[in-house]
Amino acid sequence: MKFVFSPIQSEHYPAHFLSSGATKPNPETPERADILLEAGRASGFKITEPVNYGLAPAAAIHTPEYLKFLQGIYDRWRQIEGASEEVIPNVHPNGRPHGIAMGYPASAVGQAGYHMADTACPISETTWRSVMASMNTAVHATRQLEDGARAAYALCRPPGHHAFADMAGGFCYLNNSAIAAQELRQDHERVVILDVDLHHGNGTQGIFYRRDDVLTISIHADPEHFYPFYWGYASERGEGAGIGYNLNFPLDRGSGDQPFLAALDSACTQIDAFAPSALVVALGLDAHESDPFAGLAVTTEGFGEIGKVIGRLALPSVIVQEGGYANPALGSNLVSFLEGFSA
Ligand SMILES: [Zn+2]
Repeated sequence: MKFVFSPIQSEHYPAHFLSSGATKPNPETPERADILLEAGRASGFKITEPVNYGLAPAAAIHTPEYLKFLQGIYDRWRQIEGASEEVIPNVHPNGRPHGIAMGYPASAVGQAGYHMADTACPISETTWRSVMASMNTAVHATRQLEDGARAAYALCRPPGHHAFADMAGGFCYLNNSAIAAQELRQDHERVVILDVDLHHGNGTQGIFYRRDDVLTISIHADPEHFYPFYWGYASERGEGAGIGYNLNFPLDRGSGDQPFLAALDSACTQIDAFAPSALVVALGLDAHESDPFAGLAVTTEGFGEIGKVIGRLALPSVIVQEGGYANPALGSNLVSFLEGFSA
């Protein structure tokens, strides 16, 4: 299996985020990618660096307004007297996008509120370069399938599945899994995105919510008491042409391997019925029992089983790294999944 990683991703080093209102160190650090990279290397994977694909793959998913914002906001922000070192929103247009018509402000502060769902996606001087490198990593892995590989792994950082078409959130800026799926659509009529991250893939759901060509499935901790709170309920099934093409499997907090694998079995039955010809796995490793987010209790062996079940779908697959935070098992969890997948 090809293992794609760009070291430019490590330049993005967010300092803080707010958790229950308190300023905490941001857990989405370069070290988590270092751990995953070293684990991959130690297991014999050869690391490939991506080339630059330019803006086109991102523009196929994200709005031009949002891409312009991401590229330019840091410099504009720094011109505001007394502004914070990192771009962090302090106004939030609640109700968007389901509210009444709204204006699009010229103000950097106004736009930050418009394009950032929460405080967990600060933008610094290096963020855009790393975000593009993360997207290039996903696109490069996808191109490996076009060259005949059965599967490729993209060690993407920052992650992507909380990013909507025009909104960052939850450590995510560009939705790498969605971009990979859209790339695959060039050669595949029906593509499935299977998200096994601890958190619901709300951005991915939002991007494909009215489409029937990309089936989106997410298995995650119940949003009743867990981020992203407003999305991830089983009742969210798609809209218009997309009805029935979005499936959510919320699990009780603390669920371990058995409930997770049972949900995965149901997901696979639905995938079979959709008859896709390609798969994107949004691979979060934060459902692990030792992850600092402490939402679910999947074991390292459990990730191997999850990999095995997904591998048995026998679809050309791009595995895109999403969450998974510093803990002693992080590297083993990746290897366990990848080995299970390839078994
Ligand atoms: Zn997550």
